Amino acid sequence: MRIFDPHIHMTSRTTDDYQAMHTAGIRALVEPAFWLGQPRTSPASFHDYFDALLGWEPFRAAQYGIAHHCTIALNPKEANDPRCTPVLEELPRYLVKDSVVAVGEIGYDSMTPAEDTALAAQLQLAAEHGLPALVHTPHRDKLAGLHRTLDVIRESDLPPERVLLDHLNETTVEHATDSGCWLGFSIYPDTKMDEDRMVTLLRTHGTEKILVNSAADWGKSDPLATRRVGDAMLTAGFTDDDVDQVLWRNPITFYGLSGRLQVDTTPPPPLHQGNSILRGGE
Ligand SMILES: [Zn+2]
Repeated sequence: MRIFDPHIHMTSRTTDDYQAMHTAGIRALVEPAFWLGQPRTSPASFHDYFDALLGWEPFRAAQYGIAHHCTIALNPKEANDPRCTPVLEELPRYLVKDSVVAVGEIGYDSMTPAEDTALAAQLQLAAEHGLPALVHTPHRDKLAGLHRTLDVIRESDLPPERVLLDHLNETTVEHATDSGCWLGFSIYPDTKMDEDRMVTLLRTHGTEKILVNSAADWGKSDPLATRRVGDAMLTAGFTDDDVDQVLWRNPITFYGLSGRLQVDTTPPPPLHQGNSILRGGE
């Protein structure tokens, strides 16, 4: 089983996770820029983070035979912090980088006017840079949040076929399907979807334009959630080809819209900016 995790925050994960992911069949991933938990206090803090998503983290992933790409954005939560919003002006210089395959994750957290502004501005940046967008749907008030998200997408220059709506569930999937956007589902322990609910949903909705991710981060999450979905699909009678479509070809088609996806892993260079992953550089 070959797996592409289209949404995982490896900055928050260990090298053991990389190893286990490779063993489970994960050969490619996309790491969206997100909120780190600790509030940032200036745009410079974003710059170092973006540079890590473009440099250090792909280098680390390559040690384990996993192709790493990222999406770049001001995240929905920090769109409310005036110390952070000036980073919007710096995004264009990151959006031209080779391994940036979308603008994201953008969307709503608390549905404030500041979030409206940041979402509209970043959909526009995606349209201008020929990139698709990864749009997160809010964890609270999901349906209202989805409606408002779709309104802003419709008013933007970015066509819905270039938008991935993420963190969907049974309450939002119908509206999301009608919008013409791609559909993302995060498999999270305790909250969001689990693998059995995901299989039920795939039975009803089919396997077209559907992406499944672990959204693993610094919270309780499972970087092998994609594999669990693949196994649950096979147990439920889906074919190997169905699994390959959902867990490999769909993410490749979506992020391939950027024209920048490179999923063949080449052996990593021994050093990144003079440093190896071995302490002391041995
Ligand atoms: Zn995320």
